Amino acid sequence: MKKETFEFWFVTGSQHLYGEETLKQVDKDSKTIAVALDKSEAVPAKVVFKPVLTNADAITTICLEANNSPQCAGLIAWMHTFSPAKMWISGLTKLNKPLLHFHTQFNRDIPWSDIDMDFMNLNQAAHGDREFGYICSRLRIERKVVAGHWQDKAVVASIGTWTRAAMAAIDARSMKIARFGDNMRDVAVTEGNKVSAQIKLDYQVHGYGVGDLAHAVSLVPDKQVKELVKQYGDEYKASSKVLSSPSVKEAARIEAGMRNFLERGGFKAFTTTFEDLHGLVQLPGLAVQRLMADGYGFGAEGDWKTSALLRSMKVMSQGLKGGTSFMEDYTYHLDPDNTAVLGAHMLEVCPSIAEGKPLLEVHPLGIGGKADPARLIFKTSLGRAVVASMVEMGDRFRLIVNTMDVIKCPPMPKLPVASVLWKPDPDLKTAAAAWIYAGGAHHTSFSQALNAEHLKDFADISGIEMVLIDEKCNITEFRKELRWNDLYYHLNRGL
Ligand code: MN
Repeated sequence: MKKETFEFWFVTGSQHLYGEETLKQVDKDSKTIAVALDKSEAVPAKVVFKPVLTNADAITTICLEANNSPQCAGLIAWMHTFSPAKMWISGLTKLNKPLLHFHTQFNRDIPWSDIDMDFMNLNQAAHGDREFGYICSRLRIERKVVAGHWQDKAVVASIGTWTRAAMAAIDARSMKIARFGDNMRDVAVTEGNKVSAQIKLDYQVHGYGVGDLAHAVSLVPDKQVKELVKQYGDEYKASSKVLSSPSVKEAARIEAGMRNFLERGGFKAFTTTFEDLHGLVQLPGLAVQRLMADGYGFGAEGDWKTSALLRSMKVMSQGLKGGTSFMEDYTYHLDPDNTAVLGAHMLEVCPSIAEGKPLLEVHPLGIGGKADPARLIFKTSLGRAVVASMVEMGDRFRLIVNTMDVIKCPPMPKLPVASVLWKPDPDLKTAAAAWIYAGGAHHTSFSQALNAEHLKDFADISGIEMVLIDEKCNITEFRKELRWNDLYYHLNRGL
C-alpha cells in the first residue's frame, strides 16, 4: 500500500486574559505534549504543534487551513486554560476534518505543598475543557473525547486508535472502487444505494463490463507472466507441476492485467462476480488474494460496500501486527460443547492473515463452469480478532461488529481453500442471532490487527451507525438498541 504521510494538528485554546507570561507557558506545555504524541509509537502519524489560539479569527483560520490541507487528517484540541467557547463557533462549524478533544492536564499530580493561585490560573483544563465540550455538544459536533494524563499509555493508545480511524476516513474521501460486472444474481445485502454512499462516505463506485478487464488481461506480455510465476515460487509453497501449469500462468496474467487496470484508474478497491466472467478463463482467485495483501479493498459478487470497508480497515491497520481480509461466514460447528464458525470464501481470502507460508494449488471450483482456478491455501494464527459488515438500511449505513477468538482448526484435507475457525463473543447463539437481527451480511471484513474501538472511531468520524456484538452483548438490550437507533437516525435529520 502506498504510504501516505498524514498529519494531525495539535491545537490549544486559551484567551488573552491570562497575560503574556502564562500564555508563553501554555505554548511551551502544549508543544511538549504535541512532541510526546508525535514521538509515540502508538500514534502512527505526524503530530504537528500549532501556536496557541486566543481569538475567533485565529481559530477560524486554522480550521479552514486544516480543511484545505491534504495532509491534515484531523485536529487534536486541548484547553490548557479557559477558552471562552463562543470564539470556537465559527471555526468548528466550518471544520470538515476529524476532531479529537484531548482532555488532559500538563501536571499529573497536584503539587500539594507548592500549589498557589498562579498554578490554579495556569492549569485549568478541568474546567476549560468542559466549556469546549459544551460548545461541541451544543453544535452536535462529532468528536472523540479522550480523558487522562498525556503520559498514560492507555490514553495515548486511545488517541493512536483514533488517528488510524481518521486516516482511513480521509483515505475514503478519495475512494474509487472498480466494480467488474454488476452485483451477483439478486443478492440484496451486497447491493445498496451508491448515491447515498457517495454523499455520506465519498465512495465512488465505477462499473465496468468484465470485457474491459478481460481486455486488460489480454494485453499482459508473456515476459511479465513468467516473472510473476517465478515470484509465486519464491513466496509460496508450490510444486513445480503447479508452477508450470496453464492455470497458474493464467492466474498470473489475470493478476497483472487487473493490477494495471486498477493502477491506471487510481482505484483503491474492487469487486468481481463469478456469475459474470465473460472473457476471463478462470475466476480471479490468486490475483484477488495478492491484491488484497497489497492493500486493495475487495468484495466478492459485486459487494462494493465490503470492498470499501476492507480498504478502510487495511488503512487503519497499517503497521500493526496481524492481517486483515475479506471473509464470509461459511458454515457452523454446532456441537453444544464447542460451537464455532468456519469462515472462508470460494478463493478470495487475504494471505496477510496466513500463519506460515501459504500453499499455492489449483483445484476445480465446483460451481460456475469455468477453468480450475489457482488459489493460496492457509490457516490463520490464533488469537483475538474482529469482523465487520456494512449494510444499507435505506436511511443510513450500519456497521455491525463482532469480536471473537480465532481457535485451532482440525485438519480438513479435502477443503482446498484458506479458512479461519472462530468462536464469536459472547457465544455463537447470541452472536448469530444479534447479527441477524441487525441485518449483518454474510460477507465481512476480518481483522486480527484491529479492535472494536478502531471501528467505533471510524463509524463516528464517518457519521454512520455502529452496533457492537461483544462479550457483554445481551439480545434483549441489543434489540432495544436497534429500535432506538431507528428512531434516532430518523429524528437526527431534523436536528
Ligand atoms: Mn460470497
